[in-house]
Amino acid sequence: MKMRGWILFAMLVAMTTVRGSEPGEVRSLILMIGDGMGLAQVSMLQLEQGDTLTSFDRAQGVALIRTRSANSRVTDSAAAATALSSASKTGNGMLGVDLQGHPLRSMMTRAREAGMPTGIAVTCYLQHATPAAFYAHVPDRNDTRSITRDLLASGVDVLFGGGCKWLAEECPEGGSGLDALRRRGYFVAGSLAEADTVTQGRLLCVAADEHLAPALGRGDFLPRATRKALELLDREAARRGTGFLLMVEGSQIDLAGHAGDIAWMQAEMRDFDRAVAEAMAYADRTPGVLVVVTADHETGGLSIPALEADFTRADSGIDYHLSTHNHSATMVPVYLYGTGADRIHGVMDNTELSRRIMELLGLQ
Ligand SMILES: [Zn+2]
Repeated sequence: MKMRGWILFAMLVAMTTVRGSEPGEVRSLILMIGDGMGLAQVSMLQLEQGDTLTSFDRAQGVALIRTRSANSRVTDSAAAATALSSASKTGNGMLGVDLQGHPLRSMMTRAREAGMPTGIAVTCYLQHATPAAFYAHVPDRNDTRSITRDLLASGVDVLFGGGCKWLAEECPEGGSGLDALRRRGYFVAGSLAEADTVTQGRLLCVAADEHLAPALGRGDFLPRATRKALELLDREAARRGTGFLLMVEGSQIDLAGHAGDIAWMQAEMRDFDRAVAEAMAYADRTPGVLVVVTADHETGGLSIPALEADFTRADSGIDYHLSTHNHSATMVPVYLYGTGADRIHGVMDNTELSRRIMELLGLQ
């Protein structure tokens, strides 16, 4: 290539890298929700990793959010995820609708309407409360058929999770839900290996009938799904000249808390930590990406007391103590990383966090 060719080439590379964005402009969001992940769960991960820093330790900004729902001081995942997705309070058990049952516009719907590609990667079934709050509008979180109907109509471009059982059922427009998604241009994969053959366009990777296996038997599904979703969304956003929105959930931290299983909870935290590391690594090499890591609520009432009564002596161990099989009402942490990480801080309501994120992204 001649000198002038090189200069043109370098200019083209520079243009495609920043995609014409202003310095400091938040173009894309990776929202990561640890279901049931309180500050104690993050502390447990840190304590178990010893001197090795976690991805949470890399945060460039932090905040705290209150989690109460419209009708209870202890929220469930449906109301909390609706607050995070739509900046509106609703009642426990309700998804993407207000207390009167009126539909709410989630940040994913707004992103899609603004022309941005969107994605979801979870280890529960895709119709479960947290992911569903980003696309469904049902007064009852257990109405999985209606949620599946809303999933087919959602227009979310990249989907990783479980829930094949309901997608394989006959749907109103004829054929199965999987057929309906194929008609809408999705490549339907049954495993990560199959999903890895896809290099562009819409993708549904549905890797289990209901929830995926617990972390110890699941391998690295969530970190790999996060990486693959970012690859596809990055490509599609570049094609459209926009940013994108990806929601990733560490879904089973909560299930481990309900089950009172500390080893399972630790495995889920390690897995979620690896997924967060993928998102941060992407933000490191891509300008305009904000990573927000938070939780819908805490599960298990986890505390970490010293084992010995006389804790003033040398370290004699710690205990992980769960005080309930249910959710608790404590505030949960928010960790921010990447472009705009310094622009959200303080103590706020979960709806306020959602509102501020949408403001940074310019979503109406
Ligand atoms: Zn729960």
